[in-house]
Amino acid sequence: MMSDIEIAQNATMQPIEEIAAKLGIEEDALEHYGKYKAKIDYNKIDQLEQNGKLILVSAMTPTPAGEGKTTTSVGLGDGLTHIGKKAAVALREPSLGPVFGIKGGAAGGGYAQVVPMEDINLHFTGDLHAIGAANNLVAAMLDNHIYQGNELNIDPRRVAWKRAVDMNDRQLRQIVDGIGKRTNGVPREDGFEITVASEIMAVLCLSNTLTELKEKVKKCVVAYTYDYEPVTIGDIKAQGAVTALLKDALKPNLVQTLEGTPAFIHGGPFANIAHGCSSIMATKMALAHADYVITEAGFGADLGGEKFVNIKSRYANLNPDATVIVATVRALKMHGGVAKADLEKENVEALREGMPNLIKHIENIQDVFGMNAVVAINAFPTDTEAEMQALKEEVEKLGVDVVRSTHFADGGEGAAELAKKVAEIAEKPNNFQFTYDLEDSAEEKLNKIVQRVYGGANVEITRKAARKLQRFEEQGYGNLPICMAKTQYSFSEDKKRIGRPEGFTITVRDVSVSAGAGFIVVLTGDVMRMPGLPSTPSAEKIDVDENGNITGLF
Ligand code: ADP
Ligand code: MG
Repeated sequence: MMSDIEIAQNATMQPIEEIAAKLGIEEDALEHYGKYKAKIDYNKIDQLEQNGKLILVSAMTPTPAGEGKTTTSVGLGDGLTHIGKKAAVALREPSLGPVFGIKGGAAGGGYAQVVPMEDINLHFTGDLHAIGAANNLVAAMLDNHIYQGNELNIDPRRVAWKRAVDMNDRQLRQIVDGIGKRTNGVPREDGFEITVASEIMAVLCLSNTLTELKEKVKKCVVAYTYDYEPVTIGDIKAQGAVTALLKDALKPNLVQTLEGTPAFIHGGPFANIAHGCSSIMATKMALAHADYVITEAGFGADLGGEKFVNIKSRYANLNPDATVIVATVRALKMHGGVAKADLEKENVEALREGMPNLIKHIENIQDVFGMNAVVAINAFPTDTEAEMQALKEEVEKLGVDVVRSTHFADGGEGAAELAKKVAEIAEKPNNFQFTYDLEDSAEEKLNKIVQRVYGGANVEITRKAARKLQRFEEQGYGNLPICMAKTQYSFSEDKKRIGRPEGFTITVRDVSVSAGAGFIVVLTGDVMRMPGLPSTPSAEKIDVDENGNITGLF
């Protein structure tokens, strides 16, 4: 089989206006970025009704390699097109950090990819640059305010806003700036975060309109005063200029899959300190034009799925008609205790032992969130027939729909059966419900997430975190949803506790407020907001020839 980039480069793309036409989006609403990419003008379509069926793609607890949510989303989109449905996918746009680091591109894989993959993985339509500029304008205005006399009484030691760059660059994680002569500013400890970890990214993804974007931007907390009062972007009068910088970035990007299914690739917030879903704007635009919209939530169903339900769906008023739970033979074997090095060897027994992990995710989707579920077995070349059969059997035993899908190797045809099943269950009524009420106290919200979704005993809040939660409540942030930052490798906070752990406690070590995005971030361990590059960055393999053809991108 060819590499992802070879497959992508061999594809014949259709002009973007033809892709738009499939959705009934008129030429007039398109803003072309070359032949195969366009932004869609929200002014032309935000009045439309959203009648499409919304399909969420989530997954069991993954191995570090990832179990293929993006790949399955793209494959399912093509599968639906293959069986004659009008489908679109709505996915996150990649960050340069992982592209040049370990993980590589984020545009699917094999015969289930979105194209032009080089563009999508590199600068694309410039959204990330715009978000970085908007973020850094706030930082510049904030430090300037302090330098120009600090009328707002900002404590330079309590500046909460970081500068951002879309790169894995650990050198910038913690810095001292403003040093030198007096006119260089006020010296303080500072740091950068990767652009996708910025609150501006989360705000962009959670805004339904440009006006709402501006309102959310205005509310972002950038620092605290010496009296510990929050200072917002509104206080430093930056919301207008910031929103001006973001007005095009808010327009969804339209591209296509290898088989010509329309694909909205827009927004890409972190899945830990943010909610990990592509933009509301793109999801809604897709729902207004396609009969089936497939979207992904980052990490497993306990984290990304939970945040899709309790954050994105709440803010966008969504009700997913069906959920695909991606499962793989290798992840099941890992939860059955097989070491990483042995995951490619057949082991039916271990696979069966790993089932409790998948079962808990199925219970969460069906019973806790009340959604219609189908398990998609994402077939890998190393899976054996006996393993696939065993997995199918185990899920069928539960009375749950399960389909083996070979989209990675076969494209849309390989996902046709999955597509039929998804279309079938999307017609069924559901009991979609949030996990907690916004009026619950932070501790109640957390206990509900931990007990209902993670299957743990309870939550323990450190004194430092409790004090902050108390303060957030006094400052009027008590009714925000919770954004959990927890390892994605276990239901518990200990990534070594694989399978379906029970009786554990989740310790809340720290909390912060993303008042603009509209959630309280709950940290259960250290979260890296500025990753570093590995010893051999994938950037070393990337090259471009004299004609501008890129090689070595995943
Ligand atoms: P996720 O979205 O869950 O993180 P991705 O879809 O990005 O996962 O897939 C993770 C990696 O695994 C990608 O490099 C992708 O190309 C690869 N992959 C996904 N599905 C398959 C498959 N069926 N066979 C081989 N490789 C796959
Ligand atoms: Mg993904």
